[in-house]
Amino acid sequence: MKSVRDLSAFDRKHIWHPYTSMIDPLPVYPVRAARGVRIILEDGRELIDGMASWWAVIHGYNHPVLNAAAQAQLEKTAHVMFGGLTHGPAVELAELLLATVPAGLDQVFFCDSGSVAVEVAVKMALQFQQARNLPQKHKLLTVRGGYHGDTFAAMSVCDPLGGMHALFQGILPAQYFAPAPPASYRRPFQEEDITEFRQILADHHAEIAAVILEPIVQGAGGMRFYAPAFLKRVAELAREYDVLLILDEIATGFGRTGSLFACEQARVNPDILCLGKALTGGYLSLAATLTTSTVSKTISRGRPGLFMHGPTFMANPLACAVAAASLELLITGPWQEQVAGIEKQLSEELAPCRALPQVAEVRVLGAIGVVELHQQVNMAEMQQRFVQAGVWVRPFGKLVYVMPPYIIDGKDLTVLTRAMHNVISQEKIPE
Ligand SMILES: *Cc1c(COP(=O)(O)O)cnc(C)c1O
Repeated sequence: MKSVRDLSAFDRKHIWHPYTSMIDPLPVYPVRAARGVRIILEDGRELIDGMASWWAVIHGYNHPVLNAAAQAQLEKTAHVMFGGLTHGPAVELAELLLATVPAGLDQVFFCDSGSVAVEVAVKMALQFQQARNLPQKHKLLTVRGGYHGDTFAAMSVCDPLGGMHALFQGILPAQYFAPAPPASYRRPFQEEDITEFRQILADHHAEIAAVILEPIVQGAGGMRFYAPAFLKRVAELAREYDVLLILDEIATGFGRTGSLFACEQARVNPDILCLGKALTGGYLSLAATLTTSTVSKTISRGRPGLFMHGPTFMANPLACAVAAASLELLITGPWQEQVAGIEKQLSEELAPCRALPQVAEVRVLGAIGVVELHQQVNMAEMQQRFVQAGVWVRPFGKLVYVMPPYIIDGKDLTVLTRAMHNVISQEKIPE
């Protein structure tokens, strides 16, 4: 066994973390275990988790039902290839998903991660248009401020300024970008909000295969919320101009925004839906791209008559078994009251942050609470203050935000919101 110090030293020297330098990496905190809403560090400190490990851990860590599902599947098999074979966990999960997602979706493609689910969605859209003999329809239209993952097709539809476009210019496919939706959930829709989006479709629909966007909540691109009516209008225009609608619910899916899927709030049914993050309750990496039988049959009638994708670990049985247990746990449980309770408490307890001179805006939707500051924060310093306060909150840019596991109780949530207020109030006051 390595000592805590050795762990950190080896890690620092040899292991990449998300978006890090290997010359001057930010500190990382070694974790011994996690249970419920608590992350237990190697040095014994316990942190109340505000991040749900990036939207994923909706039921809390080390959940007995999910543990049992994983253990039972482990006794049978951790993995078999999905070419030429199938298994109970994949079928059970697909059945549960199809009963849960918006109407019209009835074909499931399992893959490894959110980014891959987006790649798969884009390939579906392109193969669909090729099969219709419209190969010139191969571009995507999206809105600014989005985030869809770190692989190439996914990067190409991330926000052009916040994303990695400059870094990979000339390599990333060029897509169409309309202005971000007005950043207000309650804003009454005005047709002028969507003028440019509509104009791009009018001018370029002959080259556009699909519209892709995150419904209602733009996550890692800026934690902005927008009105369901905007999404509804997007869906109408996509239909009008004969382009597919891809909704990326990798962050918003499974109840986070107060509805099981965010697109339900706009009564919109996508042609292609991407799921990931909370799919396994945060246990294993698994994602899915769902589509309609119109899309799947059209692809299958075209050349080469197959959908051209097939990951090695497609529909991994262990991940599928845990995902099925997680989804069952969710839909038979009190997630609606839990998310509504978190929303109410976040709204009340983050409201005082508005009075802080460091704060530009406070916004809450479902089990998501966001405090946007005027200035970028020093992530490492702020992180350390949160750890000292006994909570796990990871800010980025100007954003300090939480999306805790749904099982968090009122007392722990208050510890989180107090810590946010205290830590933000120690930030430098802008001139
Ligand atoms: C996280 C995220 C992705 C990428 O998922 P990974 O599992 O990190 O590849 C894509 N889209 C959205 C909306 C996300 O939040």
